[in-house]
Amino acid sequence: MEPLDRETAAKLFNHYRKQRDGIRNSPEMASVCLICGSIHISPHPGDGRMLVCRNCGFAFYRYPCPACGATIDGRDPRNPGCRECGERICTCGACDCPTNAPPLRKKAADPPPFSPLVPADRRTSPRARLQAIKR
Ligand SMILES: [Zn+2]
Ligand SMILES: [Zn+2]
Ligand SMILES: [Zn+2]
Repeated sequence: MEPLDRETAAKLFNHYRKQRDGIRNSPEMASVCLICGSIHISPHPGDGRMLVCRNCGFAFYRYPCPACGATIDGRDPRNPGCRECGERICTCGACDCPTNAPPLRKKAADPPPFSPLVPADRRTSPRARLQAIKR
């Protein structure tokens, strides 16, 4: 990614200081510190999912959701911390809780319409009934 110039960084900083919703969707915000406005951001040495500001030391989560691939940013109010596992919750609802994580195949926002494994008309067929009895 192109390094940000100071002017762009300052604009982003001012914008997202007031309105934090949307930080996750702004790729530039990976390199702007929301505490001091610095653009000297490095990967966190101890945690691959965190970034750290080299100017003020503020560290924040920013990583792709393992379930849907969307960016999770700990500074974004739409990515709150989970009370159960302590990880950030993606807008798709996934966090580190095994029960809360949607199946990997599921696409981001729209849950698939309910589809029974057996079509309705075959469920009542004599053969299907027979199989049910056998079991
Ligand atoms: Zn900073
Ligand atoms: Zn997700
Ligand atoms: Zn959780």
